[in-house]
Amino acid sequence: MESRKIVLLGPPGSGKSTVAEGVSSKFSLEDLYMGQVLREQVAKETIIGNIVKEYMLKGELVPEDFIFGLAYLLLSSKDNFLIDGFPRTLKQAEYIDGKGVTFNAVLFLDVSEEEVVRRLSNRRVCPSCKAQYHLLFLPSKEGENCEKCQTKLERRADDDPETIKTRFREYHSKTAPLIELFMRKGLLYKIDASLPPKGVLDETVAALNKVFSIQESPKVEAEKEE
Ligand SMILES: [Zn+2]
Repeated sequence: MESRKIVLLGPPGSGKSTVAEGVSSKFSLEDLYMGQVLREQVAKETIIGNIVKEYMLKGELVPEDFIFGLAYLLLSSKDNFLIDGFPRTLKQAEYIDGKGVTFNAVLFLDVSEEEVVRRLSNRRVCPSCKAQYHLLFLPSKEGENCEKCQTKLERRADDDPETIKTRFREYHSKTAPLIELFMRKGLLYKIDASLPPKGVLDETVAALNKVFSIQESPKVEAEKEE
């Protein structure tokens, strides 16, 4: 089997983790999340992890050069993956391309700001037992209180509509040049992430079927033309 290297792009609230869970086993892709990779390195106390930990303890951002190195080590050692969280900027994409790591396709979960606000601003959490709810998709049977412990539910500070809008716009300004680059390379697959989860998953599966069937059966295509 040829290598299968897929990038997953999408703003917070676009449903990336649901898509990653839904397609990774179906297409034999290792589900990689850059933030998780960093945390694992720290937990295993590797050389890389210990350096990352120092920055985390100081409350500083891990330098971009360092992320570059780690991303290269990770991605160049694997043949089948779905990566979320890298590349995040044009600079990161150009770096990894310059190192010879190429992707088969880039899935972009496209969703409107209004829809992201609707999804995230309606999330609620119980401050006492940490149970999670959603006013539209998973409401508490006790109304404004937690079903399990009756505590009044809260919205996390991050889920305030204005904060969500700021994050959404920041994401798009950083990602727009990246999306353009992948579009020029013919790698971009836009998925309508405003759909309900099942619809998003179906579109993603259809896109990946297209990506892999084109690559796996060039002979069949050629024969058809004769
Ligand atoms: Zn509770």
